[in-house]
Amino acid sequence: MEALKHILRKQPDKLHLLTELLETSVDGTRDIFVNRPLSMAHIRYIGFDMDYTLAIYNKREIEDLAFRLTLIKLVGLKGYPEDILTLPYDVDHVIRGLLIDHRKGNLLKINRFKQVCRVHHGTQPADLSLYFNDRINQSDMQRFASVDTLFSLPEAYLYACMIDRLEAGDLGAKDYTTVFEDIRYCIDLIHRDGSLKSEITRNLARYIYRDPHLPLTLDKFIQSGKRLFLLTNSEWFYTDLVMEYLLETDTLGYQSWRDYFEMVFVSAGKPDFFKGQNPFQVVNPDTHEETPFEGDAFVPGTIYSRGNHLRFEQLSGAQGNEVMYVGDHIYGDVMRSGKDSNWRTVLVVQELEDELGKTEELEERHQRLKRLSNRRDKLLYELHIHSSHLHSLESLKVAISNFSATELQVLHRTEEELQESIRKCQKEIAKTEEKVAALRQELSRSYHPLWGPLFHDGDEISRFGDQVRDYACLYTSRVSNFFFYPTDRYYKSLRDIMPHDRWMELSR
Ligand SMILES: [Mg+2]
Repeated sequence: MEALKHILRKQPDKLHLLTELLETSVDGTRDIFVNRPLSMAHIRYIGFDMDYTLAIYNKREIEDLAFRLTLIKLVGLKGYPEDILTLPYDVDHVIRGLLIDHRKGNLLKINRFKQVCRVHHGTQPADLSLYFNDRINQSDMQRFASVDTLFSLPEAYLYACMIDRLEAGDLGAKDYTTVFEDIRYCIDLIHRDGSLKSEITRNLARYIYRDPHLPLTLDKFIQSGKRLFLLTNSEWFYTDLVMEYLLETDTLGYQSWRDYFEMVFVSAGKPDFFKGQNPFQVVNPDTHEETPFEGDAFVPGTIYSRGNHLRFEQLSGAQGNEVMYVGDHIYGDVMRSGKDSNWRTVLVVQELEDELGKTEELEERHQRLKRLSNRRDKLLYELHIHSSHLHSLESLKVAISNFSATELQVLHRTEEELQESIRKCQKEIAKTEEKVAALRQELSRSYHPLWGPLFHDGDEISRFGDQVRDYACLYTSRVSNFFFYPTDRYYKSLRDIMPHDRWMELSR
């Protein structure tokens, strides 16, 4: 109701927003999920990243664009065959959270124990035995690259395509690592030399989705006394164009998008912003010229660049734990801010809406899998109990030699009964396990035919899921989901379960 009143007060003519709101507010895919408790009442400052956080990109269009521009660079600068220019982009081939092993030319999905769950060599599935005895050290940059932002998906798919070409003998003397380095160089270049951004800014509506609830959400935070700031790695000229597009003026009485934010930081150089000591610069919004900032407090309306979080806290007067930062990059936005500062963090995971929508669609099968898995776990528990009784009985027979004939008969009969129960349990476990494996595979393919669900693999949490859980206080699919919650809400985490917590349930 609070959200409805807010719209009616601010935009009485926006009936379509009310309709959308009513539809969205009952849709669980737009929920906010809690890893660590967070009290919004204690948050005074809310910072936002821009790309893939405030600005939701049209995945298909932008990835295709990045793929295409990189192919042009590979042909022009690195001598790749011209016919690669006609390669179609497959937006569904890779998912976030994969690792590129550029020593072996593979894409990997690993779980939270750093075990490899799925392997592709180029675009083709490969055998897991390739990694049988291989310890995956994901921070070994000499060997692995992490597909951890949505910007890196076209890079991963391009690598897979080029490995196919390498294996077909089309890339001369290049090896797996050189191909990776060529692609990384060219994709960095399209970001650096402006080719990607100039195309996006020519047609913002094609590449960026304008979320109608975003201005309302920011306004709601402001009305409740929160102080907002923008902290992005993008340059001023690009930030200005994108933000202007996102927060169209006049609707809520703001003259410019800059009026939503008390402070604006561009070219922030995250993750260095959280661990380095770069001084702040002042950006001239007209000439884009940067000069050192020498004041002892931020001046509202000024554009700053570079900087670091400690100086931010001194100049703004914010305590670390009063700041909540919302971003989409696990390493640059959430992990570094969580490790090197006391800032509370929110991760925007755009894929959540699809992932949760799929889970809803597959609910009946998920319930069946849960029942089967519970049955298997219960049987395993029973097997453990029978086996330990049998073991105790055998130890008893060794320890005590003077049993009477009747006692020995009883012992023998009990032993036979236990052995029979163990055989039954083992048979039932094998049957149930087979059903679990088949159903799990079917479910997994429904999420993604090649890589399965984003947050899991089999019974385990994926590396991506593990990072989301470890580093983000909250996670959600988009910033405007906060619109549906009170601005002083206490976000409470669910009770954490340890394996021994299931003991009662299994032993019944
Ligand atoms: Mg971003």
